[in-house]
Amino acid sequence: MKEKKIDKYYKNNFLYRSHTMMLPEMHEKTIHLCQDCSFFVKIIGKQENKSACIKPIPIYKNKAKGPRPEIDIYEILKHISSKELMHLVETSSAHKTACSEFVKYSGVRSQ
Ligand code: SF4
Repeated sequence: MKEKKIDKYYKNNFLYRSHTMMLPEMHEKTIHLCQDCSFFVKIIGKQENKSACIKPIPIYKNKAKGPRPEIDIYEILKHISSKELMHLVETSSAHKTACSEFVKYSGVRSQ
């Protein structure tokens, strides 16, 4: 297939290729990781603690209850099943790039 002239221009233009266009408000989100987000919380279990993003849980998503840095597992199990909680823990990672729902956590987290 014949390459269009404009495609060839952008392909060969190294200056264009090295600069990614980004909206100013997106910059804040893309430079952060999930570990900086207020929705990334430590879930305190009976025997161990795990971190997870609680944004998918409607009560926290709608901000009816503001997320705290540490939440007891029983409080979360009131809103979602244990299977859903397991899925949340498995899919969450502190080192993931922040999503569009990112809200910067302003406090200091305990280790
Ligand atoms: S940045 Fe997005 S995925 Fe990461 S913890 Fe916050 S809401 Fe969850």
